[in-house]
Amino acid sequence: MAKNIRTLTFDAVIVGGGGSGMRASLQLARAGLSVAVLTKVFPTRSHTVAAQGGIGASLGNMGDDNWHYHFYDTVKGSDWLGDQDAIEYMCREAPKMVYELEHMGMPFDRNEDGTIYQRPFGGHSSNYGEKPVPRACAAADRTGHALLHTLYQQNVAANTQFFVEWIALDLIRDEDGDVLGVTAIDLETGDVAVFQAKCTLFATGGAGRIYQASTNAFINTGDGLGMAARAGIPLEDMEFWQFHPTGVAGAGVLLTEGCRGEGGLLRNKNGEPFMERYAPTLKDLAPRDFVSRCMDQEIKEGRGCGPNGDYVVLDLTHLGAETIHKRLPSVYEIGKNFANVDCTKEPIPVVPTIHYQMGGIPTNINGQVVAPKDGDPNTVVKGFYAIGECSCVSVHGANRLGTNSLLDLIVFGKAAGDHIIETVRRESAVHKPLPADALDKTLARIAKLDNSTSGEYCQDVANDMRRSMQAHAGVFRTQALLDAGVTQILEIEKRVQNIHLKDKSKVFNTARIEALELQNLIEAAKATIISAAARKECRGAHTVVDYERPLTDPDCPLGRNDKEWMRHTLWYKDGNRLDYKPVKLKPLTVDTVPPKPRTF
Ligand SMILES: Cc1cc2nc3c(=O)[nH]c(=O)nc-3n(C[C@H](O)[C@H](O)[C@H](O)COP(=O)(O)OP(=O)(O)OC[C@H]3O[C@@H](n4cnc5c(N)ncnc54)[C@H](O)[C@@H]3O)c2cc1C
Repeated sequence: MAKNIRTLTFDAVIVGGGGSGMRASLQLARAGLSVAVLTKVFPTRSHTVAAQGGIGASLGNMGDDNWHYHFYDTVKGSDWLGDQDAIEYMCREAPKMVYELEHMGMPFDRNEDGTIYQRPFGGHSSNYGEKPVPRACAAADRTGHALLHTLYQQNVAANTQFFVEWIALDLIRDEDGDVLGVTAIDLETGDVAVFQAKCTLFATGGAGRIYQASTNAFINTGDGLGMAARAGIPLEDMEFWQFHPTGVAGAGVLLTEGCRGEGGLLRNKNGEPFMERYAPTLKDLAPRDFVSRCMDQEIKEGRGCGPNGDYVVLDLTHLGAETIHKRLPSVYEIGKNFANVDCTKEPIPVVPTIHYQMGGIPTNINGQVVAPKDGDPNTVVKGFYAIGECSCVSVHGANRLGTNSLLDLIVFGKAAGDHIIETVRRESAVHKPLPADALDKTLARIAKLDNSTSGEYCQDVANDMRRSMQAHAGVFRTQALLDAGVTQILEIEKRVQNIHLKDKSKVFNTARIEALELQNLIEAAKATIISAAARKECRGAHTVVDYERPLTDPDCPLGRNDKEWMRHTLWYKDGNRLDYKPVKLKPLTVDTVPPKPRTF
């Protein structure tokens, strides 16, 4: 081990102080375990704070609902790529988890009778697709803000130890493949340290910054994915990226689906509420992949708005100023600040914008990371857990329903916390010794940047990567576009290895961090484009024009080819190898929802 480098030792180390990380840390701290939470930013600035619309749970406060309907909607929304055991677990736990948040003091909006206010959201229905049902438990359009602050306060009370502006750099694995902690750098001083743990949990959020137009925070650089990939762990289903229908055109800032949940309508240049034509039952509340493609179609067929016909509009004017100010106050502000529009009087220009990664680090329902070994595709990697957007459990399959992410953070945050407590108490009285080379990879990466005397500017390379991903792995994909994208991204990867870090200072050197983040972004970009080019069908968010088929095609209705492609992709960094594993169609206690064509 290198001299002068500190080792800090804990029962558990959590990388990420967003909704998922803080739900898990709360569980551990309350149980009396020593737990460190590393986070790039102050915990309450994690991207969870930006969540607007709500958290899904079948409370049935405002319509006929139960978890069986939620389970069915989520399986269907996933286009039958979601694992039905995990989906059942999440939907059953949901009401309990939301009441628990309520009891912690989360300030939900209320109905007249004092129950939690719920609004309809895309793809959530009553009675197996019959009609939309209000299932999104909301705190105005600031649900993530309310959630994250509630969890932070609870963590402070439970004595969770936060390491703010500490950036994890690499996973430490020993020769058995067990995970023993992470290496990390302190932004304030530039010092590197080892965080040694009996259990290491990644809650690092998404990699939405691999795309150019994104609703995601700038810190969403897929660090967990990069660290896992470099340590030989595969990434699952990375071809599936959700475009949110309503990003402000030109700005990318999100307008929650709650706008349409409250009755807002998408209109084309003729003022037509066009979703009625595409989805007669759910209309504007069809799932996001579907609505995004319909918007794209309207624009392509010449019915887009504005001088260039390159967006549609979101009309809220008929809701009335009072409802907008009460239920959607942030949307009103975003309209003013980012589109220069008073949405009580005029519609807001919108386009589909990258929003969420369905794939990630493969896990089981305990949050334990799994990878193929000796013929078992789901062998546990000892000591390693992942939850939240960086993980793939997989409850969202090929397309996530809105409100199901905040839910997944809380449900699997608690589940992973419980499992870690049990594991630490049962198995690990002492820490396994750290391997002698624990720091080597990290120090080599930093030294390479520090010794660079020539090369490219980090942001030039990052921008080229984002442009390429936007153009080649967007809402509509073609095989030719995807294949060309693979070639481009592999070229850009070579440039990532040749970055010139001009500023070599140590204190608050954000340029060094950005260069290290780019090494993670490029892993997420490669995983995405390579997995996408290999999947020769249309499923959920992955629609490839070459494979589109009519609904009536007996083998591949709407282009979905269950015979060959109802399976999860696994991408390995080493040699860009792809492997596949079966979808878990068997739920825990109920009957399988059998695959059928997905119409609304
Ligand atoms: C604008 C917007 C609105 C949304 N609205 C909704 C909604 O209404 N309902 C819903 O269900 N979902 C919504 N989503 C999705 C949902 O909010 C996210 O998927 C979820 O909040 C992600 O939570 P997380 O805990 O996985 O990660 P995040 O909240 O993104 O937190 C990641 C954490 O990891 C830390 N981190 C990352 N890398 C490192 C590193 N190398 N070292 C140390 N720390 C690190 C960060 O500092 C941060 O603390 C929305 C998403 C966006 C972008």
